[in-house]
Amino acid sequence: MNKELIKKLSDIEPYVPGEQPKGAGIVKLNTNENPYPPCPGVIRALKEIKGEELKVYPDFVCRELKKIICENYPVNENEIFLGNGSDEVLALCFKAFFNSEKPVLFPDITYSFYSVWTEFFKISCKTVPLNEDFTLNKGGFLSDNGGIVIPNPNAPTAIYEPKESIEEIISKNPESVVIIDEAYVDFSEEGSIAELIHKYENLVVVQTYSKSRALAGIRFGYALTNPKLIEVLEGVKNSFNSYTINTVTRILAAEGGKDKAYFDKCVGRIKKTRKYLTDELSKLGFITCPSSANFIFTTNPNIDCRRLFEYLKTKNVYVRHFDKPEIDNYLRITVGTEEEINILINEIKGYLE
Ligand SMILES: *Cc1c(COP(=O)(O)O)cnc(C)c1O
Repeated sequence: MNKELIKKLSDIEPYVPGEQPKGAGIVKLNTNENPYPPCPGVIRALKEIKGEELKVYPDFVCRELKKIICENYPVNENEIFLGNGSDEVLALCFKAFFNSEKPVLFPDITYSFYSVWTEFFKISCKTVPLNEDFTLNKGGFLSDNGGIVIPNPNAPTAIYEPKESIEEIISKNPESVVIIDEAYVDFSEEGSIAELIHKYENLVVVQTYSKSRALAGIRFGYALTNPKLIEVLEGVKNSFNSYTINTVTRILAAEGGKDKAYFDKCVGRIKKTRKYLTDELSKLGFITCPSSANFIFTTNPNIDCRRLFEYLKTKNVYVRHFDKPEIDNYLRITVGTEEEINILINEIKGYLE
């Protein structure tokens, strides 16, 4: 290709999502999807969608959808910003709120998309090393900065940081927007800090329907913050794409937020299987971080976990391994159904023998 032409092309280093293998007999425990289907109301609503409706642009107010979010969290309709998956919401937040020469702070071991967005938007950033036990180093978030983003529970460690520590970081950074990415918060005992948006004007809480609500396929996420920051976010979004929530997503997400009984049942099952998985692995010499998510982060000092990861793949069992030096002997394993976890455990036993 023409050398001058090549110079004009983007050379951005993208986020690499987990593999999406397809086929019978595959046990897929690598992208933190929910092993259970979305609630029956979603399936019903999908069948009832009229094709005719799709000829017009979607409704971008999404009143009913926002109302349902208000039923689940202590927020008002004018404190909600909707997006096409929380990845999009987070990217728009980076553009909307991180406009300083000073570096944006996030943990060094965390969701790898954050550094992709700082690169994408040319935002300066600085990573804060976690403590030895992978908990958050609070002090590291008190230096001068252009903004802060922290997932709670963190990924891929699955560790939940106590509300008090998170609140301290928010309260001691009044001049910066602090984004708390709660992608996995529904699997924690302590729950969301959403109500703190009424106490701190610099707080943005981001959530998704991809994990706990089993709706990764519709791409739906949202931010909760005060109306002033919502307005800034809307401005950024409307400078790029006004219609991020498509008609099908709007209808299905509204259903996905209902049926608390089904939701609690599925989340409860995942938590139970999480404990079973952790206990079984412990019998095999694995050490697992305390998990508040729908995945675990585990290591076995006696073996090469990367080789185990490769071996499991040959057995059609997919988990996640990260090439980063501090964590390259760890595996991140999504909590699947009990049946899937039994297959995984048996394959690990086979490998150890
Ligand atoms: C999965 C995940 C997201 C993004 O989820 P969407 O599917 O884009 O809503 C955001 N943050 C973290 C930490 C995640 O693990």
